[in-house]
This record gives sequence, C-alpha cells and structure tokens, in this order.
Amino acid sequence: MQQLSKNYLKLQVKKNFIGMIIFIFLATHWYLSLFSQTFFLHRYAAHKMFTMSNFWEKYFYIFAYITQGSSYMSPYAYGAMHRLHHAYADTENDPHSPAYDANPFAMMWRSKNVYMDIYQKRVDLEDRFVKDLPKWHWFDSWGNNWISRVLWGLSYIAFYVVFAEYWWMYLFLPIHFIMGPFHGVIINWIAHKHGYRNFEVQDTAHNIMPLDVFMMGEGYHNNHHANGSRANFGVKWHEIDPTFVVIKVLNALHIVRLVPEKVTKAQEKPKETVAS
Ligand SMILES: [Zn+2]
Ligand SMILES: [Zn+2]
Repeated sequence: MQQLSKNYLKLQVKKNFIGMIIFIFLATHWYLSLFSQTFFLHRYAAHKMFTMSNFWEKYFYIFAYITQGSSYMSPYAYGAMHRLHHAYADTENDPHSPAYDANPFAMMWRSKNVYMDIYQKRVDLEDRFVKDLPKWHWFDSWGNNWISRVLWGLSYIAFYVVFAEYWWMYLFLPIHFIMGPFHGVIINWIAHKHGYRNFEVQDTAHNIMPLDVFMMGEGYHNNHHANGSRANFGVKWHEIDPTFVVIKVLNALHIVRLVPEKVTKAQEKPKETVAS
C-alpha cells in the first residue's frame, strides 16, 4: 500500500514536470535570446562597452545564432541601426520611434526595412555609424536566410508537438518565431512611452520598472540614453542590471575587457525620480 502511494506520488511529480516543460522552454528562450541581444548586439557591437578576442567574438556569434534562431539579427546591421537610434532618437531619422509611428507593428515594420537597407548595403552611412562593427559575412548570410528562419520555426513547432499538453499552449509559439522583434517592441515602444526618468534627456526614453526582472537591464532605458557608453544600465540602488553582473564575471575571467566609461555631466547626478 505504501509502495503504491509512493509510486503514485512519483508519477504525479513526473506529470507536473512534463506540464512545466513548455514554460521552462519559453523562459529559457526568452532570457537566452535577450542575453544575446543586450550583451552581444547592443553593448558589444553597437556601443563597444567592452572588447573581446576574435575567438570569443565568433563564439558569441554562434551563441547568438542558436539562441535567437528564427529572429537572428546581424550584429553589423543591428549595430549601425542602433547607432542611428541614439543619434536621431525621436526625430524623423530615428529608425523606430512611437513619436513617428502609428502603432508598434508599423514601427517594427519600418525598423525591419531600415535593417534590411543597412544589411543589403542599400544606404550610405557616415563612418561613425559603421566604425568597428563586427563582420562575419557568410555567417550573417545564413542567419538572415529564410531557410534558416523557417527551419528554426519548424523546430519550435516540433518541440511543442512533443511537449505541449493543451491546445492553448500553442498560443505561445508566435513569441518564439519573433522573439527579437517582440523584445524590440518592449524597449523601442514601451520604454519610449511609459515609466520613470532619472535623467532629463532630449528624447522620450524611460526606465520601465524599478527592478528589471524581464529585460535583463535593457529596461533601464532612460539611464542608457543618458550615457550610452556605460556598461552598467542600473544607476539607483534598486536598479540591478543582471547583464552587467555577467559582464563583470566575464571580465574577471578575461573573456571580455571592460572599456572605461565616459561620464557625462547628466550621468554624474541623477535627478529625483519623476513618474510620467
Ligand atoms: Zn531608445
Ligand atoms: Zn544603446
């Protein structure tokens, strides 16, 4: 009898774990894809907040491809597009801005077009927008190829076919397909509309939440716009930036080398937090 109830308990634990697999997969894909975006594409490629050897650069290219999968972006094209965002934030030359786009879909569609123009070299950019950006042409060609994107999409579907227990779990699939643009909307739309500001910057950048549990530090967007060279996006005591913690560890392990930040006047003294 005791053996029977033990076996029943074991079966229940196993069943509950299987029920959780889809959520574990979604969370893992969310954070790993986001890490590649914020660590490699944003802080390394676009802003050069730290350097790394050629070996580690290739390593993180491959890591980004595996974790971003169907929404892989070229660090070169992303980096140039993002530098345009900082230079022209909330003006008509900004690749994405809620001030100039009617809704998040229109904004992301325009961003995609700017990204493709840069990727296909259809636009001439000043040197400051492309200087020192990483380049790995054949690898980017494969990552941006529709065959690669569709194969990743099919592999996400296959995972759900094996592990999803209920039909409604399939509703999460589109998030996997467009994970990168999904994160893009949160920062480029929401963080340019809602939240609080530590610094009076010239554009609409806000910090989304006092503790950025979902966006790995990217959510402290007002702090980042105030000083684009600062590797730690958190400024106030509660603004813990998990990606910066990882960068510090990689720096201690000599995998990356942090570049000393340039402190701006605005950065020296955050003003009192104001909500808006
Ligand atoms: Zn911004
Ligand atoms: Zn930036």
